[in-house]
Amino acid sequence: MYPAPFEYHRARSVDEAISLLSQYGSDAKLIAGGHSLLPMMKLRLATPAHLIDIRTIDGLQYIEDKGDYIAIGAGTSHAAIEKSDLLKQKMPLLPQAAAVIGDPQVRNMGTIGGSLAHADPAADYPAAVLAAGAQLVAVGEDGERVIPAEEFFVELFQTDLDEREILTEIRVPVISGNTRGAYLKFPHPASRFAIVGCAALVTLENNVCSDVRVAFTGVASTAFRDSGVEDALRGQPLNESTIQKAAEQAAESDELEIMEDNFASEDYRRHLAKVYAKRTLMQIASAF
Ligand SMILES: Cc1cc2nc3c(=O)[nH]c(=O)nc-3n(C[C@H](O)[C@H](O)[C@H](O)COP(=O)(O)OP(=O)(O)OC[C@H]3O[C@@H](n4cnc5c(N)ncnc54)[C@H](O)[C@@H]3O)c2cc1C
Repeated sequence: MYPAPFEYHRARSVDEAISLLSQYGSDAKLIAGGHSLLPMMKLRLATPAHLIDIRTIDGLQYIEDKGDYIAIGAGTSHAAIEKSDLLKQKMPLLPQAAAVIGDPQVRNMGTIGGSLAHADPAADYPAAVLAAGAQLVAVGEDGERVIPAEEFFVELFQTDLDEREILTEIRVPVISGNTRGAYLKFPHPASRFAIVGCAALVTLENNVCSDVRVAFTGVASTAFRDSGVEDALRGQPLNESTIQKAAEQAAESDELEIMEDNFASEDYRRHLAKVYAKRTLMQIASAF
């Protein structure tokens, strides 16, 4: 399978990439790791006339401690995030999600910016950045914009990014000493994408859950935070009985449209959401 013909541009800086995006408009696409875009081009689901390579930009690959948050360059590979000791210590959700993406080849080539911008409903990072309370930095002709993760994912394969903007940085708040997090997923046996993935962060104060953030991927057309589970656990002690009750609320919102396909029906996905909410929260409880 061959993609449609395209012209290849190698951007040397964010400014150059933005100017190329402005010049070619909707005929252009950025390419980072290529691990989502190239398969789509080969299937002719994407036929950009101009490909702007941003992997060649120096300074988009970093993981830096900024005090309150960790800054991750959008061009940072899944493998670098998986191996980062800084993230393991200060925001373990991201390395846990990165570690279960695809296979080593995908993790070496794919980038966090590419994954988030692609907004695949079964991708792993979206649940992790939602539970983490991340902020996403986009740069365009009009300058820089900081988008909370909760406003970033708009629809299936659709984000708040303008087609002339580049996602440059992901900012994840560092967790405090009394917070634990976990990401677990039920992977599709062939692709390893999430049929259901659950990311959660829980803060304990005086032995009760003072803050609870639970997000799912794979369940609906975009990743989402599940207030049903969060509300059921907030103010409660963290034990098997309270976790079971909270997990039963997973994917129960009337506003939620649960996906179904040949592999997983709506009922099965809802069931898996409850199972994975429980497993994720039990893993967190055992980490305190
Ligand atoms: C076999 C296989 C298995 C996989 N399994 C998983 C899995 O289990 N879990 C999972 O989450 N993912 C999985 N993936 C997807 C993988 O994580 C991709 O690498 C990732 O989704 C896209 O990142 P990329 O850097 O390759 O982006 P690209 O493919 O280069 O780009 C993807 C899209 O994002 C845009 N884009 C890229 N960078 C930016 C940027 N900085 N700013 C704005 N737009 C940008 C591009 O224009 C394009 O539209 C799998 C992929 C393959 C091929």
